[in-house]
Amino acid sequence: MIIYVNGRLVSAGEYVLSPLDHGFLYGHGLFETMRAYNGRIFRLEDHLQRLETAAVLLNWPELPGRLELSDAINSVLKHNDLCNASVRLTLSRGIGAPRPDAASCGQLTVAVFALPLPPSLPAEGWRVATVKLRRNLSSPLVRIKSANYLDNILAKAEAKRLGAHEALMLNTDGMVAEGSMSNIFLVKSGRIVTPDDDSGILLGITRQIVIELARNAGIPVDIRQVKPEELAGADEIFLTSSIMEVIPVAALDGRPIGDGLAPGLLTLKIAQLYREFAQKE
Ligand code: PLP
Repeated sequence: MIIYVNGRLVSAGEYVLSPLDHGFLYGHGLFETMRAYNGRIFRLEDHLQRLETAAVLLNWPELPGRLELSDAINSVLKHNDLCNASVRLTLSRGIGAPRPDAASCGQLTVAVFALPLPPSLPAEGWRVATVKLRRNLSSPLVRIKSANYLDNILAKAEAKRLGAHEALMLNTDGMVAEGSMSNIFLVKSGRIVTPDDDSGILLGITRQIVIELARNAGIPVDIRQVKPEELAGADEIFLTSSIMEVIPVAALDGRPIGDGLAPGLLTLKIAQLYREFAQKE
């Protein structure tokens, strides 16, 4: 596997990350996971915008330019001969003193790798379990893709222990937030509902596209605070993420959603619209 690190293409086994990198020492890093369709990154500008916003929050020095990052990603795809792939762009605060003082760090570490994906992923419905861990409304970290994904990892592990594919995290007010690696939507009486921007969620790029696609197709979308009971009473539930696209939920906390067998009609429609849009754009 050929990867990109700090301006160079190297073989993955050849590169050694410094143990003094603050990404490694303190989780002081940011990342984006993107999907390439037919050799092109879907919504690259949106991913880079989200990264830049997070870098401002962390008070980072200037990031490499968008052109440089996009060239890095394209060369990784090309050198690994990949067309349909998941692409991971990681930036860390770089090498510094072994104390949590970002001012001691030099240049950012920038790395890209890509892995092949089948052109279409299985659309089997996922089981989702509500986990104990809450999205902390007072932390800005829930809104960015930081290298501190330990809450998400713990949530996913708890879901797995409960026999589910994905976790449902509530926020510290007890309202619905998101999955450990996905945003959540419910369908009730022909309307789509998703937690609003202040619910302690990552503002998913797939989420935004789904909202736009649904509205353009004449399906009403409500973006607001969502109570957990609403999910339990939903006609359909689905999750979204750049890699998995639109994932139907078959069961929540062991109770089937819809008939629990086939994905609901609106979920299928949104999945189809998204797939067509991503392939075309
Ligand atoms: N929420 C969390 C916590 C995530 O980690 C992700 C993706 O990894 C998402 C939501 C979905 O974001 P996107 O649609 O931008 O991939």
